[in-house]
Amino acid sequence: MDKLLLLGDEALAQGALDAGLSGAYGYPGTPSTEIFEYVQHNKEAAQRGVHRTWSANEKTAMEEALGMSYTGKRAIVTMKHVGLNVAADPFVNSGITGTNGGLIVAVADDPSMHSSQNEQDSRHYGRFALIPVFEPSNQQEAYDMTFDAFELSEHLKTPVIMRLVTRLSHSRAGIHRTKRVNENKIKLPENPNQFVLLPAFARQNYKKLVEKNKLLEEESENSKYNVYHDGKDKSLGIIACGLGYNYVKENHVEAECEFPILKICQYPLPRKLIVKMVEECDEILIVEDGMPVVEEWLRGYLDNSLNIKGRMDGTLPRVGELDPAKLRTALKLTPHPTKEIPEVVKGRPPELCKGCPHRDTYLALNEAMKEYGPGHVFADIGCYTLGFLSPFNAINSCVDMGASISMAVGAADAGLFPSIAVIGDSTFGHSGMTPLLDAVNSKANVVVFILDNSIVAMTGMQASAVTGKIEDICLGLGVEKEHIRVINPLKNHHDENVAIIKEEIDYNGVSVVIPRRPCIHIVKKIRKK
Ligand code: SF4
Repeated sequence: MDKLLLLGDEALAQGALDAGLSGAYGYPGTPSTEIFEYVQHNKEAAQRGVHRTWSANEKTAMEEALGMSYTGKRAIVTMKHVGLNVAADPFVNSGITGTNGGLIVAVADDPSMHSSQNEQDSRHYGRFALIPVFEPSNQQEAYDMTFDAFELSEHLKTPVIMRLVTRLSHSRAGIHRTKRVNENKIKLPENPNQFVLLPAFARQNYKKLVEKNKLLEEESENSKYNVYHDGKDKSLGIIACGLGYNYVKENHVEAECEFPILKICQYPLPRKLIVKMVEECDEILIVEDGMPVVEEWLRGYLDNSLNIKGRMDGTLPRVGELDPAKLRTALKLTPHPTKEIPEVVKGRPPELCKGCPHRDTYLALNEAMKEYGPGHVFADIGCYTLGFLSPFNAINSCVDMGASISMAVGAADAGLFPSIAVIGDSTFGHSGMTPLLDAVNSKANVVVFILDNSIVAMTGMQASAVTGKIEDICLGLGVEKEHIRVINPLKNHHDENVAIIKEEIDYNGVSVVIPRRPCIHIVKKIRKK
């Protein structure tokens, strides 16, 4: 079969397509975006009619994928790790409903926070919801595992998390395509109550879920992805999870590792294999990219008698992305010589692009706010967050998707005046509509800026779910028509824009100001056509 050069994200997507995928759902977020985009732009997927439209947010995406699974077809839902917080409600409950057609929750974690607000580890969610996790150690496994994940999902009627990390998501390797599976036909659940979480059914389903976990442990114990490699020197045993296994191998290219290695790429943890290693070896080093999840499981809260090394005792750094050099130090191997980083690839501070429409919005907002001083502007996730930086210094918060409006409402409730929210168009569609409804219901004295650049810019120009609909949505949520103001963020409209913003600040109630101008990068694309 074909050999393809693919990113980890793309390998997972190709695996899902070859395994008979019928629908992909997701919301863009680095480093997960390329999983969905690969399916979206794939010719075979188009010919087959695989569903592949971005969803408004991760929660709706998760629910839509669950709906496809309900019909017996195979579905994938994609998101970044913080997106799983948004999808947590249906995600946790999907463990209790179980699945009908195979369901993969593909989540890309971002250790080191390259483009995220936190470093959380999705394996915690798997354990919390009693949902199995597959964690590929390389791109080929990302491809192969999707077949096994769908099969496990259908065999035990459970969703399966496929957890990637940034470095695997965004690096390429050659992939062998192995087989192609036909899509499932529509077949409704045998048990008509399976997806009805009335308390009486939910209690039964939860009992089954707990029992299922024993089977999942057995699956892990016998998984081809969890492998014990023996070694001569038992003074140390290495438990290497996911990409961490690749890093162990990278540090032993010249000679075999002398220590036993337990490779773990499927969870729940394979108990017998771990006991074998703990009994055979004097010390255990746990190599995992992300949080010390396995290390915490092994230590327990009170039992510190095991001689365990890892992220918690400082053998490996507690925070930040794992890499082969950090592992080399932990293994007490001689460090590889390092090279000077050339000027051209050195880190540069981020900034709004030259010509970005948000620049003119911030200039107008800053001028209108001059008389009130700093500390009044709550912002959101996306390009406009860059308005925090000089020369704008225009915003005072950035917490999670949608929090700009809710925080502005809370601050207004506390008596802060003026209280301003700044959110992007796509983020408004993702999580901004419900807090705007709160603002209307509580008659909060807020001005909400919805910066409409007609695209999801920061994650790579995906379509925004609300393009062309923002005024109607605001009207529908109860904002008064005369306080929905569209402005053109251009220098020659500056004075007019400042005057409009001041008028809305002076209005005691909910105002929406929509600065509307496309991101300059889509303007370029439009011109190229
Ligand atoms: S990508 Fe577009 S919206 Fe984002 S900073 Fe650049 S011009 Fe502005």
